[in-house]
Amino acid sequence: MTSGCVKVWSDEEGTSLLLGQNESHKFLPVLVPETVWVEAASGGTGWLYMVYVISYRNAQNVVEPNEIDQIGKFFTATSVVIDSVDVDIPYPTICEEVTFTVTTDPVGYEKYVQWSGGGCYAVVDEDNKYISRLSCTGDKTVTASLCDNIVHVFFNVSLPPDCYECTASPEVSLGCAGGEPQMSTECFDCSINCPCGVFNQPLEDPADPALDINVCYDSSNCEWKFGVSATATVTYGPCNENPFLNYLEISDGDSAVLTEDNYCDIVDAFDYDIVNASTGTGCAPINISDCEQQRYSNTNCIWAHEARHAFDFTIQLNLEEELLRNNPIMSMPIDCNASPELSYCNYAIAYRYGQIEAAVKDAYLEAWLFCASDVGEQHARETAYECFHELAIEICNRASREGWSACPSCGD
Ligand SMILES: [Zn+2]
Repeated sequence: MTSGCVKVWSDEEGTSLLLGQNESHKFLPVLVPETVWVEAASGGTGWLYMVYVISYRNAQNVVEPNEIDQIGKFFTATSVVIDSVDVDIPYPTICEEVTFTVTTDPVGYEKYVQWSGGGCYAVVDEDNKYISRLSCTGDKTVTASLCDNIVHVFFNVSLPPDCYECTASPEVSLGCAGGEPQMSTECFDCSINCPCGVFNQPLEDPADPALDINVCYDSSNCEWKFGVSATATVTYGPCNENPFLNYLEISDGDSAVLTEDNYCDIVDAFDYDIVNASTGTGCAPINISDCEQQRYSNTNCIWAHEARHAFDFTIQLNLEEELLRNNPIMSMPIDCNASPELSYCNYAIAYRYGQIEAAVKDAYLEAWLFCASDVGEQHARETAYECFHELAIEICNRASREGWSACPSCGD
């Protein structure tokens, strides 16, 4: 008999090792078993000779130190080998249950077979069958071993039909209908802080955003990766056609709507203090009665102002897109225990759809909130300043030519 793999157990179930593998046996039960079970690499005969040295002592239980008990037995071991290992599904899909059935020769020793290679979710059932579910695709090996007798079973795990492996990182794309924010001269609700122009909040249209969510399998991490492509309608423009604004255009210094009475207020509004937001945006509201205002501005300068909001929105949306790309909701590890049905790609999309949709809407809103913020407004004021400032100079020159009464903002 070879000495490579001899194990002696004090119980038939093989849970209490007396000899072999683990050499630390000093806390085993003191009772010497009447029967022991011998597992060996090969059949044959041998002598099993065990010596117990009892060193436990205390006041209540007086035991002679170093009392020695001995067992000496001649034994015959039967040779047991793995006869076959059958697999019921040689080409399973991810998380699909695969059952390995082992038969020993002679039969009856199946419960002593050790298994490995079945992945994190593998179990041995009461019939000694090995049940494996694998969350990763590719060639796999399950190993059955009975002492030194080892059998490998090769099989392959694939994706379910209509699911695809990622060839690159899935695209995450947030855009505007038409490619960029659209210029529009339609009459707007000019309620935000650009009184003569507007950059409309996206997503006010219930159909926005148009969403396309896709998924692929990332074999390096055994997870689903989601991609999303979204577009929303984003518009901006001047409010010069809004009938409720009483808007009048100052096209240049010779504009017929300029008068000795109104020109200085208009110069004040156009030549705003670039660092002081409270000095205006180039839109001059002048009270013409107790309950009515006339607004004066220049459409080209308003375009410049609103176009800067649109530019900022696009830049911020790109940043939001990058954040979304790295958002943990854009990937999902495949967990064969918690949610085996999510090993199917289309179920994974359905499961994540609401979360991704909410994150996309949030990204558009955050981008809009940035361009409508004080910082965004300051950018727009700075961008349009030169345009309004040139007009203010023209108006002051006109006043000088006409001999209108002095205006402090004209510098005289
Ligand atoms: Zn603005």
